[in-house]
Amino acid sequence: MDFRRYPESNFCSTPIKIGSLFPIVVLLSLLSTLSESNQVGDGVTIIDATGKYVMPGGIDPHTHLAMEFMGTETIDDFFSGQAAALAGGTTMHIDFVIPVNGNLTAGFEAYVEKAKISAMDYGFHMAITKWDEAVSKDMEVMVKDKGINSFKFFMAYKGSLMINDDLLLEGFKKCKSLGALAMVHAENGDAVFEGQKRMIELGIMGPEGHALSRPPQLEGEATGRAIRLAGFVNTPLYVVHVMSIDAMEEVAKARKSGQKVIGEPVVSGLVLDDTVLWDSDFQTAAKFVMSPPIRAPGHGKALQAALSNGVLQLVGTDHCTFNSTQKSLGIDDFRKIPNGVNGLEERMHLVWDTMVVSGQISVTDFVRMTSTECARIFNIYPRKGAILVGSDADIIILNPNSSFEICSKSHHSRSDTNVYEGRKGKGKVEVTIAGGRVVWENDELKAVPGRGKYVKMRPFNYLFDGIEKADAEYLSSLRAPVIRRTMHVAA
Ligand SMILES: [Zn+2]
Repeated sequence: MDFRRYPESNFCSTPIKIGSLFPIVVLLSLLSTLSESNQVGDGVTIIDATGKYVMPGGIDPHTHLAMEFMGTETIDDFFSGQAAALAGGTTMHIDFVIPVNGNLTAGFEAYVEKAKISAMDYGFHMAITKWDEAVSKDMEVMVKDKGINSFKFFMAYKGSLMINDDLLLEGFKKCKSLGALAMVHAENGDAVFEGQKRMIELGIMGPEGHALSRPPQLEGEATGRAIRLAGFVNTPLYVVHVMSIDAMEEVAKARKSGQKVIGEPVVSGLVLDDTVLWDSDFQTAAKFVMSPPIRAPGHGKALQAALSNGVLQLVGTDHCTFNSTQKSLGIDDFRKIPNGVNGLEERMHLVWDTMVVSGQISVTDFVRMTSTECARIFNIYPRKGAILVGSDADIIILNPNSSFEICSKSHHSRSDTNVYEGRKGKGKVEVTIAGGRVVWENDELKAVPGRGKYVKMRPFNYLFDGIEKADAEYLSSLRAPVIRRTMHVAA
């Protein structure tokens, strides 16, 4: 695909409301991209989208499919997770490759295997869990040969994934030199460890101990620290799952000062609150355990407001599902409850219902937050995140007058629970088209394993514009080293 055909001025995330005169034409037999031709020939399916919104398919920037974590593996693999996504109007996701014993290449190869059953397009971020020369070299290989343009650093999970500040600085420097986006899971891992000890001493062993052991101030502290260190290195930063007002305000402050920081709330943080963690039934409470935790009432509303006024930019899910049996691993100790909630199938519906129906954001904003901005940040726009000639034909049709109801009996995830159980709302994705094929229509899913393609992502996204200039300005501002005359003092 020739990206030169798409100057930035063509940037357009406006959804099209299509009337009966302009039915959407899907060239099933011929193409996986939109055609310039208006001719309707044989083998063409015509879908009438009268009175509905035709929009780019959703892109979820944050998922964990087939991930080994906390002594078990997520119940959704690349097929079941993607099937759920397609049924909910998401046509691409970016998953996190976890290195094998710190080895990036081994991690990448393992994920290539895991993803072979993909039913829709996907990309990879890469987690960095230790630091040495080999990791530094491998980061280069990942960016130059493997199509990865973002690396995530965990400031939490002491003893397993967590890295400390000197490694964070090394990582940020390396990211900057490669034009890769640095991402952080921002919680103070040392303080979380202390908070967990405190709960155990108090005899608080249930899921509520999870929320109590890692309060918002620990997320705010780590977010602020990561932002300041990224500012010190002068490299763009992407904060994953902004769950609290504390973290969001750090993002807001940095953006106000002109720093290139992206904040990603996830749908659970936007629409749920932590009262469920005090439920007297362990299973009911444990299914909501994720990190950072779902916060007290009030945080979600504030995050919604931050999205609508541009402080936060896009919505992910952190889809990372464990069923009731897996969650039971922590029945006596909240520290052993596998962390994670669902959301791949529900994200588009919940953002629409919570934000568009309530009038907080426009339909255009919805497209930007659920698709276009993600494509721009990860440098795959306009192949993804747009309906343009030459773009992949990932398209959804959303009926604003239809309603949805979320239920673990009918959802497409393999999990036996759903953190949004029983939620009803307005606006339903009635048709999903992935790569030019209708994969979801009339509540029927036609996901085919192996159809999904790996999408390589190029480095140096738009956030890197101006970085070099800022570096030059910094150097010229130092007025140093000062040239001093050598003084010879007589003995
Ligand atoms: Zn995550």
